[in-house]
Amino acid sequence: MLDRRPRREWAGDMPKVRRSDASRRTMKEFLDGNGVKRTLKARGISKSAAQSALSEELRSRGIDARNWPHLSKASQRSLFSSALEGLRAHSKPVRGIDLEKATGISQAGISLSGLHGRTRRAVLSSLKSSIGELPAMHGKISGIATCRPSDAPENLKNAYAWYDSATKTITLNLKFFGRDSSIRTPYLEDAAIGYHPKGPGVEMILSHEFAHAVDDELVRMGVKSADGSVSSFIQPRIMHDCGLSMLDVERAVSGYSVDGGPPEWFAEALAEALSGDEPRPVARELLKWVKEQMGATQ
Ligand SMILES: [Zn+2]
Repeated sequence: MLDRRPRREWAGDMPKVRRSDASRRTMKEFLDGNGVKRTLKARGISKSAAQSALSEELRSRGIDARNWPHLSKASQRSLFSSALEGLRAHSKPVRGIDLEKATGISQAGISLSGLHGRTRRAVLSSLKSSIGELPAMHGKISGIATCRPSDAPENLKNAYAWYDSATKTITLNLKFFGRDSSIRTPYLEDAAIGYHPKGPGVEMILSHEFAHAVDDELVRMGVKSADGSVSSFIQPRIMHDCGLSMLDVERAVSGYSVDGGPPEWFAEALAEALSGDEPRPVARELLKWVKEQMGATQ
């Protein structure tokens, strides 16, 4: 499952213009940065399209573009993610028949009432691209559904979404997914303070739940330690391979990875590798390892 940051103080959804942590990067410098370049290349988005989406994002939030260098690096990245998400929302719709072929999820398994059309498309394309990345997951998820906030189980009221390994279904909480504009802001705020990895809200949440299904599938394939969990043995190994220790989990992946323990670390890092803005070493290393496991036993 993927929780909203608990006990959060409402900080407003407007990035603060503060001189103290100003990045002093102009928009051109930001867009020419290596991380941004890689992200744009990976998603097939031109620099000019990114620039106009970013300008539009600033306009929609009432931020004067001249204030860009005064924003913190975190705010700049968060606005950039938000702008890219807007771009993707206009990508072409995923038709049911294509989706079934691409993912192995039957049309009957998809019940996304209550979602805005754009969110629905982002959800389905995200699943499609994750399964494209890990073809061994084709047919391993049986359904995806929405849940009204009042119907959410008590312990999941503040979760964006969750994966049920018994039924192999992903459920999206309409408390967050219900309105088109309501989903990306909370996720981006959580990401800006490091509680979740940086990336577009809808895709990151879907990839996170998808990653729980991957974890599940690896266990089913027999890739596991004595205690039956994949994440508990692979977490220290991957961290070590990246020259890090378990004390670096928060910095190298996310705060939620610490709160949720190895299974959530696994889901957070894999989500970052699949949908993140700039996948970091732990995320990349984990995806590589998962691909090796799934490739070898297919
Ligand atoms: Zn989770």
